[in-house]
Formats: sequence, C-alpha cells, structure tokens
Amino acid sequence: LGRSTLSVLVRPYGDGMKLVLSQDITERERAEAMRRDFVANVSHEIRTPLTVLSGFIETLAQLPLTEVERQRVMQLMSQQTERMQALVGDLLTLARLEGSPRPAPDRWCAMEPLLRQALRDAELLSAGRHTLTMDGADDAEVAGSDTELLSAVTNLLNNAVRYTPEGGSIALRWSWRGDGGAVIEVQDTGIGIAREHLARLTERFYRVDGSRSRDTGGTGLGLSIVKHVAQRHGGEIDVQSEPGKGSCFRLSLPALRVRHKKVVAESLPA
Ligand code: ADP
Repeated sequence: LGRSTLSVLVRPYGDGMKLVLSQDITERERAEAMRRDFVANVSHEIRTPLTVLSGFIETLAQLPLTEVERQRVMQLMSQQTERMQALVGDLLTLARLEGSPRPAPDRWCAMEPLLRQALRDAELLSAGRHTLTMDGADDAEVAGSDTELLSAVTNLLNNAVRYTPEGGSIALRWSWRGDGGAVIEVQDTGIGIAREHLARLTERFYRVDGSRSRDTGGTGLGLSIVKHVAQRHGGEIDVQSEPGKGSCFRLSLPALRVRHKKVVAESLPA
C-alpha cells in the first residue's frame, strides 16, 4: 500500500454477506490539506490589497492633500483594485475549468485568428517595449474551446511580456509535430527561470519571485490555468529556461485534436 492508509468499514449486507467499504485516507487528507492551503493563499492574496486600500482611504479622509498627492493616492488605489479584479478573474476561470465538462472534441476552432488575438493583447501590455513576432499559424484548426485556448496562449504571452525587460523579444510560433500533433510555443529573451523552480511553476500561487510577480500584475494562477487547458485538450505544457537568457513554454496538442483547415481539392480528370 506504500504510504497510503486504508480505512475499512465492514457492514452486514443481507444473507450473511458483508459489504466492505474502504477508502484511502492519505489521499483524502492530501486533498484536504491542498484545499486548506488554497483558501489560506486566496485569503492572503485578497487581504494584502485590502489593507493597502483601507490605509489609503484613511489617508484621504484624514490628511489634507495637494491635488498632485490626491491623484497619486487614487492611482495607487486603482492599482490595488485591478490586482483584486485580476485575482477574482483567474479564480473564476479556474473554477469554470474544474467544474465544466471537457470541451467538445468535434468543435473546431481556427488557430490563426486566435493566435493573432492573443498577440494583439500582449502588444497592448507591452506598449512598444518589446518586439513581438508570430510565425506559422497557417491553416490549422484545433478541436476544443477557443475561449480556453485563447486564455492559455494569452497567459503565456503576457508572462513573456511581464518577465522580459524592455528591448527584449517574444516569439509566438505554431508548428506541426512529426506524429501529426502540434505545438504552440512562446519564447522570450527575458529573465529566465532557475532549474529548481521549473517543476513547480504550474502549482497555484507558486512564484519564483513574489514581489516581482505582484508588481507586474501577476496573480500566481496563470500557469495553472494553462496546465488545466492543456490537459482538457489532451495536451501538455512544458518549459525550457535559462536564467538571464530567457524561457520557452510549449503547449503540445495531440494529433487527434489538430488538423489542416483546408482540404486540398483532388484534381479532377478533364
Ligand atoms: P504569475 O501571475 O505570478 O506570473 P504564473 O502562474 O503565470 O503566475 O507563473 C508562475 C511563476 O512562473 C511566475 O511568478 C514567474 O516567477 C514564473 N514565470 C512564468 N512565466 C515566466 C517567463 N516567461 N519568464 C520568467 N519567469 C516566468
């Protein structure tokens, strides 16, 4: 049984038969501990901006401020509000992903417009500070949910923007794998990630550098959303990274889920 503990309940079940109920307590305890950690993390993430906001409200109420100071306080309050909005948005996305059936395998969405949309959003976030490029979307389609896939690619691109210093480049690529599957890649020339963090990146609220993540508007939930979306489409997410050089996140999708949109017409005899 390894490290598991079984709780066994034996109940009479008519005609001298016995019903044996058993459950893996270790698994249940692990799930319960995860739930507790999650609630503690969410509470902490919400409490911090709320404390800052209430401090500012007191300042506004009690101190005579110049117009410039008042504007600054309002700007800082708006940043904290946006932070809470982003957190609640990501929590709702995760809840939806966990609570809804997998996306239908027979609804096809075109990749090119989806990738372009994600790139446009990232360009807004970058505001001209990076070079963003896109390559290879051609005529591919993916079976599944365009909303979910857009959210996954947007999260990867936004991270690339947020963790790449000004002047860096970000490349969004689509390519076919030898086995008929496909890969969406987001490569950046940013700060990179040390090897010891790589395995934990998709855990909820896991951050390599908490203050940097928060300062750039991160919720700590982006990559867990990407992982969920990948799994719901039968795919997976992996990353290669080198501190100081950059990172490459790859979202792979299996052959069953991707296809060429245009069926090449067979040439008919004259
Ligand atoms: P966050 O909202 O903090 O960015 P994510 O779940 O999206 O949360 O990412 C988890 C952590 O992984 C981030 O806090 C950051 O430390 C690291 N990370 C993610 N993407 C990149 C990237 N492109 N370059 C460097 N670090 C990254």
